[in-house]
Amino acid sequence: MFDNPERTNLEQLGEFGLIDHITKAVELKEPSTVKGIGDDAAVLDFSGKKMLVSTDLLLEGIHFDLRYVPLKHLGYKAVQVNLSDIYAMNGIASQITFSIGLSSKFPLEAVEEIYAGALLACQKYGVDLVGGDTSASVQGLVISVTSIGHADGEAVVYRSGAQVGDLICVSGDLGGAYVGLQLLEREKRIFLENPNIQPDLEGKDYIVERQLKPEARKDVVELLARLGIKPTAMIDISDGLASEILHICRASGKGCKLYEDKIPIDPMTYETAREFGIDPTVCALNGGEDYELLFTIRQADYEQVKGQPDISVIGHVTDADGGYELISKSGNVHPITAQGWNAFTSR
Ligand code: ADP
Ligand code: MG
Repeated sequence: MFDNPERTNLEQLGEFGLIDHITKAVELKEPSTVKGIGDDAAVLDFSGKKMLVSTDLLLEGIHFDLRYVPLKHLGYKAVQVNLSDIYAMNGIASQITFSIGLSSKFPLEAVEEIYAGALLACQKYGVDLVGGDTSASVQGLVISVTSIGHADGEAVVYRSGAQVGDLICVSGDLGGAYVGLQLLEREKRIFLENPNIQPDLEGKDYIVERQLKPEARKDVVELLARLGIKPTAMIDISDGLASEILHICRASGKGCKLYEDKIPIDPMTYETAREFGIDPTVCALNGGEDYELLFTIRQADYEQVKGQPDISVIGHVTDADGGYELISKSGNVHPITAQGWNAFTSR
C-alpha cells in the first residue's frame, strides 16, 4: 500500500516527536503569518481585510479509498479541496491548518507521504501551513484541513447575489473527476478478483488526475480580477453542477435556465463515460469533485469573458417562478434536481 518500503513505528517517536518530524519541512512565506507552528495558536494579521475560514473533514472509507489513492495525492487533494472554498468566495487563501488521526497501520513513512503532498499544494498555491493537531485513531485515517484566506471587504462574493438576467458561467470542464473515479473503481474490482492483473489506466491520465489530483481554481479568481469582473454569486463545484446551481438559485431567490450543449465536457470524459454506459451530461450534473468554479456575472461583462478558453457561459438566471430548467440538446426542458453526494449513504 505504501511506496516507501521502510516502516518506522509511530510509537517510537511519540506525538511530539511525530509533530517535530512532520513540521520540520514547513516554511512560512506569507506576510500575514505572524506566528505559525509552535505555540498554542497561530497568529495572523490581515490588517483591515475580511478574513475567510473554511474547514473539511475527510474520513478513510467515506471520502477516500487507500486501495487506489496514493497518500501523497491524498495530502495534496485534501488541501486543494479546502482552498477551493476560499477561492469560491473570491478570496485569496493564505494559511491552512492540517490535522491527522492515524491508526496503528500507518508508519512514519506514510505520514511523510501525506505531508509531502500537502506541502506541495501549499507551495504551489502560496499558502503557509500554520498548525494542526495529531492524534491516534482507532480505525483508519482521518484528515481535517482548515483554510484561511482574505479579501477586501467589497470583493467577497456570496452564493446569494445572483440577479435575473445574469449569465451563468463555469470554469474548466466537468464530469472528469467522476468518470476517473469509475475507472479507478473498476480497476480496483478487477485487481481484487485477480491480483495478477495490473491496472489498465493507459491513455486515461487526464480523468485519473481529475479524480486524484484536482487543482483549485485560484487562477480563475485572478483572471476575473484582471478582467475587472466581480461575479454576482459564486460557489465551487464539489457535488456536481446540478446541486451547486440550485444552491446559488435558492440562496439568491432566483431560477435558472441551463443549456446542455453549453456544458463543457472534455473529450476523454465524454468517451469514457460512454464506455461505461453513462450519460456524460449526468456526470457533469451529478458527478462532483471537479472543484471548478460556478458563478454568475452581469450581462455587461459578457464581452470580457467571451474569448476566455477557461470560462464557459452555460445559461442565465431567471426569476424564481421560472424554476430550475435544463434545456437538452434536442430542445426538451428538464427540471434540475440535485442528487449530489450524500455523505450518509455509502457510495
Ligand atoms: P496542543 O496541545 O495545544 O494541541 P500540540 O502539541 O498538539 O498543541 O501542537 C503543538 C504545535 O504543533 C501547535 O502549533 C500545533 O498547531 C502544531 N501541530 C500539531 N499537530 C500538527 C500537524 N499534524 N500538522 C501541523 N502542525 C501540527
Ligand atoms: Mg494538539
